[in-house]
Amino acid sequence: MKLRLHNSLTRRVEDFVPLDPNRVTMYVCGPTVYNYVHIGNARPYVVFGLLARLLRRLYPNVIYARNITDVDDKINAAAAEAGVPIATITDRYAADFRADMARLGVDAPDVEPHATAHISHIIAMIEQLIASGHAYAAEGHVLFDVASFPDYGKLSGRSTDEMIAGARVEVAPYKKNPADFVLWKPSTPELPGWDSPWGRGRPGWHIECSAMSEAHLGETIDIHAGGNDLLFPHHENEVAQSTCAHGGKIFARYWLHNGMLSLEGRKMSKSLGNTFRLHELLEQHPAELLRYMLMKAHYRQPLDWSASALEQARRTLDGWYTTLRDLHAGARKSGASAAHELPEEFLAALMDDLNTPEALAILSRLADAARKAQTPEARDAAVDALLAAGNFLGLLQADPESWFQGATADSSLDEAQVQQLVDARQAAKKAKNFTEADRLRAQLLELGIVVEDTPQGPRWKRAA
Ligand code: AMP
Ligand code: ZN
Repeated sequence: MKLRLHNSLTRRVEDFVPLDPNRVTMYVCGPTVYNYVHIGNARPYVVFGLLARLLRRLYPNVIYARNITDVDDKINAAAAEAGVPIATITDRYAADFRADMARLGVDAPDVEPHATAHISHIIAMIEQLIASGHAYAAEGHVLFDVASFPDYGKLSGRSTDEMIAGARVEVAPYKKNPADFVLWKPSTPELPGWDSPWGRGRPGWHIECSAMSEAHLGETIDIHAGGNDLLFPHHENEVAQSTCAHGGKIFARYWLHNGMLSLEGRKMSKSLGNTFRLHELLEQHPAELLRYMLMKAHYRQPLDWSASALEQARRTLDGWYTTLRDLHAGARKSGASAAHELPEEFLAALMDDLNTPEALAILSRLADAARKAQTPEARDAAVDALLAAGNFLGLLQADPESWFQGATADSSLDEAQVQQLVDARQAAKKAKNFTEADRLRAQLLELGIVVEDTPQGPRWKRAA
């Protein structure tokens, strides 16, 4: 059985053949951390996290990188408004992002590079682009010279005119060509900046991903993924930068893009004010319901979020849990099913360009088969297959009783244990060990405990 993936570069579904099966590499563009993520942002991390899980099953060594964009003009604006350094904003929202991902059961990346930790790498890459005639410095800026790369526009399939219109590129006196894009820009004294050969400044967004991908995965990577809103200009520009900095070597061999999530038929966007924050949805619904919603459409298709779709998803999950409860199958979960082989047709669906709607339909068929089984052996086999397949998708992890009671799987967790973790997190914060504090917060969230920092100190409660 072969893994087949849709490659935006060729606009076809192709066999996935890694460059080196002993070192499979994937880079997924991560969030810009200046606010809470919305449910649309979670889609690429759920679906490409599932792809990482599948790749790990197929290959012995997978390196999955998902970055954090922690320097950006939106971050600068948020920090200026709050009157704090950018790190105060980015540390907070990066920690919240990680915790929300953990609650949603999203596969963690192997590396999580931060842009601000790669400034020297970024500068070196820009210097390489200047030296090879693909970039030029002008008035404190460094620009990529689009005319120097004949393949510009190939990934997104756009003409130069379309690209100029689509990118709303700024016409500036220091640009040779309006389509040239910024690699480095000057910072005023109030803005975050780093010393560089072109003066104190900060990197453009696109070069950050090129540099982080090179630093952690190498010059040519197997898979690069993100939402299809990133196809142009972000990914087109990444291709231009990386290919030119590496003497023409191919940058990413397979480009994967997820479709956009809309809300009750309208584009979900912060400016329209119609976004659902992931962390709020996680307070209102079981994480499995949100995962189910994000997997029920094929990842390349648009996906509409609506109250009626949520209700329908809930009914499906309730049906599966009813089957498990009626067949007293919950208790079998940890033993038999964890080791159970994934059903062949289920795996085949996922291998077919991550066909999650088909994979979910197979779960329904297995639940049906379990209910209608004529012998205890047939029933157990169907239940085990259902639990194994559910487990792979991050579904059907709860005890059926607690699913219907709406309780967390860990309600047995005792208070002293929770308090210990909360205290340890507080101590880490005091010691300014924020990585450890974030880790503890994520661990608590995984146990279904939400910690709130109040002027009186941390308070905790069990998640809804
Ligand atoms: P950002 O922080 O805006 O760069 O977005 C993080 C990720 O979420 C990127 O991969 C985007 O393509 C993706 N994304 C943003 N909005 C949506 C949406 N409405 N539906 C699906 N994916 C989205
Ligand atoms: Zn990126």
